[in-house]
Amino acid sequence: MIETFMWGYWGWGGSTRHLVEAFDAAEALRGYEPLVFVDVRASRAVRAVGFRGDAFENLLGRDRYRWMQRLGNQAVLDGRDGIEIVDPKAAGDLLDLIVESDRSCRRVIFFCACQEPGGCHRYVVGELLVEEARRRKVALSVSEWPGGTPRHLVAPFPPVAAARASHVDSVSSVPMPKAISPAVGVSLPWGSYATVPGPAGDLAVVLGPAIHRQRKWALPLLLHNAAGEVTERQLRRGIIEYRSTLGYAPRFSMATPKAERFARACTHQVRQLSAARAHPSEAPAAREKRGPC
Ligand SMILES: [Zn+2]
Repeated sequence: MIETFMWGYWGWGGSTRHLVEAFDAAEALRGYEPLVFVDVRASRAVRAVGFRGDAFENLLGRDRYRWMQRLGNQAVLDGRDGIEIVDPKAAGDLLDLIVESDRSCRRVIFFCACQEPGGCHRYVVGELLVEEARRRKVALSVSEWPGGTPRHLVAPFPPVAAARASHVDSVSSVPMPKAISPAVGVSLPWGSYATVPGPAGDLAVVLGPAIHRQRKWALPLLLHNAAGEVTERQLRRGIIEYRSTLGYAPRFSMATPKAERFARACTHQVRQLSAARAHPSEAPAAREKRGPC
């Protein structure tokens, strides 16, 4: 099965060199050549300096960057709300590139600006891609970068992490422990969780893959809870809901042994978590969507 990724560069605008270095190192750890980035924005006239005009294309070189404007959102060009892909047939070109890159052990990551996949047109592009792969009988999975299933992260968080995490309404990340390399940090699956010790007790935090901004590495904070108030099962149930509601769950073009194994693992998690329904935890509230498609 070929795995491809969607991604949103929200927050990375000033750190594109760190981005490319860390993502390439992450792919090397997983046994792949550097990624091919496919820009699916309708317009590149943006504020984020690293993604404005041809800045990102110049950084990567033409062999590792494609602008597929036809997979952009026509509604953005028209200045209206909603999602309408400029030319849905262009998903076939993207699939061609994914299959061709796979022959040289390179994976493709297609991106927009938006922070979350669920409300972004890249989710619709992913849908078109899965449909096209199904038509061609190509076994494909589409996941939000970096893919994978949430992990229980055990790492020495600095004391400031708990202080920041306890203000989840006003902060969007916690400092990344120094023991975690950027390559490992950017590979952390969305919805991974950890316990952060703090002066007012332990906090259970749910995190996303590392981001570099303002010269520091940080882990996006999705939600937190006092560690004693929520069981691990309840936490994992909340994570599964968060991932499926906001578009982080992977999609598959056809049933393959790997896809079936993955589906079984998810079902097992859900069964295990359903035992905690007698004391249901609150489903995490969706964070406000930031950035235009
Ligand atoms: Zn978007």
